[in-house]
Amino acid sequence: MFRINENFLKLSAGYLFPEIARRVALFAAENPAVAARIIRCGIGDVTEPIPAAAADAMRKAIDDLTRRESFHGYPPPAGYDFVRAAIAQGDFRSRGCDIADDEIFLSDGSKPDASAILEILGVGNRVAITDPVYPVYADTNVMAGNSGGALEGGGYAGFTYLPSTPQNDFSPALPTTDVDVIYLCSPNNPTGVVLDHAALTRWVQYARAQGAVILFDAAYEAFIRTAGIPHSIYEIDGATECAIEFRSFSKVGGFTGVRCGYTVMPKALCTTTSAGKRVSLHALWTRRWSTCSNGVSWPVQCAAAALYSPAGREQTRALTDFYLANARLISRACESMGLKTYGATNSPYVWMTCPVGLGSWDAFDLLLREAQVVTTPGAGFGRCGEGFIRISAFQSRENIEEVVRRLAVLAPSATR
Ligand SMILES: *Cc1c(COP(=O)(O)O)cnc(C)c1O
Repeated sequence: MFRINENFLKLSAGYLFPEIARRVALFAAENPAVAARIIRCGIGDVTEPIPAAAADAMRKAIDDLTRRESFHGYPPPAGYDFVRAAIAQGDFRSRGCDIADDEIFLSDGSKPDASAILEILGVGNRVAITDPVYPVYADTNVMAGNSGGALEGGGYAGFTYLPSTPQNDFSPALPTTDVDVIYLCSPNNPTGVVLDHAALTRWVQYARAQGAVILFDAAYEAFIRTAGIPHSIYEIDGATECAIEFRSFSKVGGFTGVRCGYTVMPKALCTTTSAGKRVSLHALWTRRWSTCSNGVSWPVQCAAAALYSPAGREQTRALTDFYLANARLISRACESMGLKTYGATNSPYVWMTCPVGLGSWDAFDLLLREAQVVTTPGAGFGRCGEGFIRISAFQSRENIEEVVRRLAVLAPSATR
């Protein structure tokens, strides 16, 4: 009889976003009169159109495909040279990071990359993830067989959880047990908090001493506004020897539906096989891409490259500024009611402390019932997320202004 990957059976049933969708659908069915009022600030999907520079480039690229002279078939598996060069120069060398064009690997997004990377890492690596965490890091490792079963109350056996709480300014302490793979995300989803130069330096030094690899998710890099905060892990000395970075155009360019991101795989990143041989991960990742992928489409790669043009830069800046202004409106409204918030200054997420006496699902239900605002309960991101909710700033200004008015239901004076 054929077998399935039984690791899938270890995944806990109540995946966060389906559970939110279930509660929202149930509320809408039971309250048809107010169903149309629902505003979604839950899932981290963008709402605003893609920058004109990207749209123009995509249209022109589609025209290319209609003529034999400019037709493009299969792309190189890791991306066209001009796109890789625009990225390596625009995102790294311009910031003093020594990253070569051929260390950039284009893909259809960071979520697929975060999953694919486990194909070149061995099974049985000891994995450290923050708590709260973007669920993809945990679930892909469960599927790959790097965990035990789901634990009562959240999380999985076998992972090393790194608590990120107000007590440590959401900058987790180094693990006290040995780990092999470390997931870091800055600016963070869900907390919206950034890791500073000193914190990232501690992680890089730790990883090098341990022979561990850091998987650094910088999907929200374009939202960083505070001077001195690293935009890339490669701003830290020695990081090319111990870190892989994931980037995505989803949030910076509104590409959640276009689908494009990339991985930085430095040639300096090596490890030792069980037989004692030094191997370069770059060689494995190159092989993985040429075997498993036929790359990203011509129109999408042209659109991605256009984000690095002067017009593209101006437009992505305006787009990220727009969401940051939304985030500030939300955080100011919460603070004015005495609710402590985190994030928002370098990120499109507001991580809000729940009103006294409410757990994160209570606050979620209250906002859904009384304000028809959909948020994400912090507990869905991990045990340390209990007592918080995440409010996404990915909405139109009109909707954010309405959300700000409706958040008044959280004020201590509001009747519940
Ligand atoms: C949105 C997001 C991504 C981007 O994923 P894509 O597949 O590129 O759309 C990656 N990491 C985190 C933490 C995110 O929130």
